[in-house]
Amino acid sequence: MNYQALLDEITSEVLALPVRGDVARYIPELAHVRPDQFGIALRRQDGTTFGAGDWEVRFSIQSIAKVLLLSLACSLDNDLVWSRVGVEPSGDPFNSLVQLEFEEGMPRNPLINAGALVVCDILLQLLPDPKTELLSFVRALAGDKSIDFDRAVAMSELQSGSRNRALSHFMKSFGNIEHSVDEVLDFYVHACSLAMSCNHVVQAFSFMAEHGLNMPSEVRVLSVSQVRRLNAVMLTCGFYDESGDFAFHVGLPGKSGVGGGIVAVCPGRFTAAAWSPRLGTKGNSILATEALRRLAQRSNASVF
Ligand code: GLN
Repeated sequence: MNYQALLDEITSEVLALPVRGDVARYIPELAHVRPDQFGIALRRQDGTTFGAGDWEVRFSIQSIAKVLLLSLACSLDNDLVWSRVGVEPSGDPFNSLVQLEFEEGMPRNPLINAGALVVCDILLQLLPDPKTELLSFVRALAGDKSIDFDRAVAMSELQSGSRNRALSHFMKSFGNIEHSVDEVLDFYVHACSLAMSCNHVVQAFSFMAEHGLNMPSEVRVLSVSQVRRLNAVMLTCGFYDESGDFAFHVGLPGKSGVGGGIVAVCPGRFTAAAWSPRLGTKGNSILATEALRRLAQRSNASVF
């Protein structure tokens, strides 16, 4: 398989598509991103990495960070995590409040905002300095010490984050948030603000395709069984109320973020990441989704 030729071909194709969608404006700092950028990267199991377009430009990974938060939390206390968040797709938008009342403050899954806020609360409980620990974790996974939070994005989300504040207070009223809402939100917005390129993302997620082993370090991040479960949660919940659509058209576990990035995992074969800031109505990048659909189809990659 000539992945470089495939990525080049997909890049020129998607860049020629009619321009649709807009950048995420509800986080004011993200509204400044140039909308027509596009990048794609693929890291094959042997470590060879291919990229095209803006694959080395750093972007705000936003909800892709939820998988990194979850991985760190599961590596520390797996049972605690699954006693406080569920594993069912929500079928609702990422920041929805509705199910939480019926389900008494227990989020449907760790990849919607409510679930990720609980995971942040768990990490605040398990780690003395979770922001620093998360940064070291991600830097080690991606093999690049220069990866950092984008503090302007974090502050911008903190000031405009009424919905996440509401979600946290609501869950706190049911006893599923232990720390102060300010502490939880501060950690959450920093995690979402991580600035990484498609290249960083495919390196950082290599353990998801390598049965729990980070490559090339060979450090075990999670057990084989834990990684299977995380991939299952990504497949069923990674795109909110568009998860079925991604599973149907792409057929790989993945996770999107409102920064326009998407990571997709083909276990035992590769990790891929695509980025383009214009989003569809459900908050998922239009061109990144389309690029990954073409990649999966033409490389015959699917978990099914
Ligand atoms: N930080 C964003 C938020 O909470 C993440 C949402 C997303 O990427 N879907 O709204």
